[in-house]
Amino acid sequence: MPPLLRRALLRLAQVAVTFLLFGACNKIGFYFEVENGVSILFPASAVGIVCCMYFGAWAALGIILGTIATPWSPNADLPSLLLSGSISALEAMIPSLIFRWRRDLVTDLRDMKSLLTFLLFGTIVNTAFSAIIGNLLVVTHPPGVLLQWREVFVWWIADFTAALLLATPALAFGGALLSRFRIDRPERPRSITNTLQIVTVIILLGFSASLAIRLYLNEEYIRQGLVSPQFEVKRQRVMAVTTIIDGFVLLTLVLASATLLLKISRPFRQIRSALEAMREGEPLDAARIDSRYLEFRTIAETLEQTARTLQQREEELRLQTERAVAASSIKSDFLAKMSHELRTPLNSIIGFSDLLMEQEETIDGGKRIAFLENVATSARHLLKLINDLLDIARIESGKMRLHFEDVDLRHAIANTVASTTPLFARKRQEVEVLLPDEPMIARADISRVEQVLLNLLANANKFSPEGEKISVRSRADAGRWRIEVADRGIGISADDQRRIFDEFEQVFTRGPNSAGTGLGLALARRYVEAHGGRIEVQSAVGEGSVFSVTLPRG
Ligand code: ADP
Repeated sequence: MPPLLRRALLRLAQVAVTFLLFGACNKIGFYFEVENGVSILFPASAVGIVCCMYFGAWAALGIILGTIATPWSPNADLPSLLLSGSISALEAMIPSLIFRWRRDLVTDLRDMKSLLTFLLFGTIVNTAFSAIIGNLLVVTHPPGVLLQWREVFVWWIADFTAALLLATPALAFGGALLSRFRIDRPERPRSITNTLQIVTVIILLGFSASLAIRLYLNEEYIRQGLVSPQFEVKRQRVMAVTTIIDGFVLLTLVLASATLLLKISRPFRQIRSALEAMREGEPLDAARIDSRYLEFRTIAETLEQTARTLQQREEELRLQTERAVAASSIKSDFLAKMSHELRTPLNSIIGFSDLLMEQEETIDGGKRIAFLENVATSARHLLKLINDLLDIARIESGKMRLHFEDVDLRHAIANTVASTTPLFARKRQEVEVLLPDEPMIARADISRVEQVLLNLLANANKFSPEGEKISVRSRADAGRWRIEVADRGIGISADDQRRIFDEFEQVFTRGPNSAGTGLGLALARRYVEAHGGRIEVQSAVGEGSVFSVTLPRG
């Protein structure tokens, strides 16, 4: 079907529905006429409002046609029916115009703002308008008798509260009901609070409407003094309407209670079992809490988030515990190794000093010198060990003070290479230095950087055979300075590469190269990290190693 034709048919259907409903309500209203045109017109008003809210301005046409089809008096001519129809259409359109103008409001009164606007500005204005104009029409109507204003007022209250009574639930729940038939039904969460607000409004309106009608009829009844059989019949008809209103209110109450009972107890049960499952450590799935009410959706989502956060925290705690256990075993390992490392040079010092004391006469001059050299070497080793240990402890406790300043790293490299020249000369090793032309400015503590480079160069010297070449290369690399110390020495296996930056990790069993403390790289790592840099190694056994230090540029 062409879209234009579809639209035209839809409009036609909307006009027809409004016409039929409005006309029928008008007819029934006149049937309940009390006297001289004071009729029960609230169903027609409510129908007009609801149709205009749903269908827009097209419903106005249905209202005008409905008024013409159901004249309020056999004498009514077409112009006065047209006028009265247009007035009814205009009043019915007031709420829909307000809702069209205020885009933040929703036609199904899903929130307090929409509900209040509808009640206050929409229907009150609408019904006041209708009551005044309608009553004026009645008053000026030829067969009409001038009505008492007080009575008109009471009747007006009755009529407008009753119109609200019908229109409010029709809008609030009708929209949801209609949307069920739509294929592309949007998910519209309704809140329990809003439902309760609407139910309260219905109860209040129903109560006021039936009270006002009763008041009006009783006064009238008493005022007339005599009960004409015709008036009694009309009175009873209208009283039947109040009974219907009371019934409507009661039905709303029962339906609301039953709905809430059913729709609230089930998600509550689901929340309880979800919480129990959560306690057992299961993840919470918000979809398992089956409710379209906003409150439950929010609770379900909050619970899901809480469950996720708790699980994350549990995982963090587990990792922390694992780390703490590992740290504690590393500490005891460290203590064991440290006592061993300290004991070895001390034993050597004590052993040689004892020997010198006990067998002083039998030891010749050459041996004595050799023994004393041994004592001195062990003592120096011990001192270096203790110094390194103290440095590590100071860094660990955050007490190590680094003196940062803008330095040219090329100077640090040149100084270190210069101070290690004798080491390399001893093993006839050549040191190749590649420096960039531009200054390598970094914010660093130059003495610590030199200490790191010294350690790397000393290791390269120690673990490379005689006559091998050692290179020191430096360059800019992704906003950092990179200094590499490469040797073609014995290399380090992948497993050992992971350990050498830890304390006391000397990879090789004591041999000719074991003069080190096993703390040099651990200290180097700490110094480099304190500068915001990184130290890494690339190596293959038998092929050599490349230690690289990256430092942020100044
Ligand atoms: P050490 O004082 O024993 O040299 P380090 O912390 O400086 O202690 O080094 C730890 C271990 O890493 C060394 O014992 C050695 O086994 C290995 N190592 C360090 N540098 C090199 C290198 N350039 N080539 C081969 N192995 C190395």
